[in-house]
Amino acid sequence: MIQLQKPQWAYFGGEIRPWEEAVLHISTEAVNRGLNVFEGLKGYWQHDGSRFGIVAMPSHFTRLQRSARLLYIPFDMPYEKFESACHELVRRLYTKDRDMWIRATLFVVEGHWGEGTVSDLFLTAYHQEKKRPPAIDIGISTWQRANDVTLPPTIKTSTNYQVARLARIEGRSRGFSEMILLNQWGRVAEATGSCVLMVRKGQVITSPISEGRLDSITVQIVVHICRALGIEFTERPIDRTEIYVADELCLAGTLAELVPVRRVDEFVLPSETPTLDAVADRFWQVVRGSQPLDGIDLSMVEP
Ligand code: PMP
Repeated sequence: MIQLQKPQWAYFGGEIRPWEEAVLHISTEAVNRGLNVFEGLKGYWQHDGSRFGIVAMPSHFTRLQRSARLLYIPFDMPYEKFESACHELVRRLYTKDRDMWIRATLFVVEGHWGEGTVSDLFLTAYHQEKKRPPAIDIGISTWQRANDVTLPPTIKTSTNYQVARLARIEGRSRGFSEMILLNQWGRVAEATGSCVLMVRKGQVITSPISEGRLDSITVQIVVHICRALGIEFTERPIDRTEIYVADELCLAGTLAELVPVRRVDEFVLPSETPTLDAVADRFWQVVRGSQPLDGIDLSMVEP
């Protein structure tokens, strides 16, 4: 096994300093977007304000395990331990007036080129406003989503987000807060931190995973909701031009939730969005616990 040397001195912050002091906080982009796999989970206060529920925790845990496995990162924590650690952190941080977003990051803390890999799970949690996201304008990026043999988009690793960072920088220069990334065939992959849902003729459509999108848990929830509401849901490749003439469009993700899209590049979309409104209304009933739906569970944090 390769032994990584630990010399006595290093240079950082403008001077020579002891090796042990060369540490970066987990919140820095250097660390946060380095070698790790992660999940973003959302917790909501339930409609009567009595309890706090974290959405689809087993699905997030399973995806974290899968991402770790695909990047040869050891992770053998049992689900129950993961769940109780999330609950414990949330209990320490939550306040009645706000929801929370929890980032579960499995950092590679030791090892070299995939030898001797050691991981450690870090949980951080942040307060979120308790309101539905307003409609946004988005652009289509000139940057491209990587593919399964370059940097597999199905692995939720922070290193995958370098291109997202470039797309967001590009978007800001064009007045957009979010961008859609196309794949190597010029078709829709996903947005930088969410998937794309398009409505045409009353049918909700999203790209298949093989088009370069994450296997989104929010999309899985939308599938359940559509089934309950009798709305047709289809996965098929989406061309760029279809997005411009969509009847309705929204982004779907745990942190993003369901964000209506008003304009894509210079194409203004119809202001009436009956299908996605119905889906979003039902989504809020599910996550707030006012009208649960079979197959979508909430992990309740006991006070
Ligand atoms: N795509 C990307 C690139 C994302 O970062 C996210 C957020 N996790 C999503 C899609 C949506 O996935 P999910 O619904 O599981 O949060």
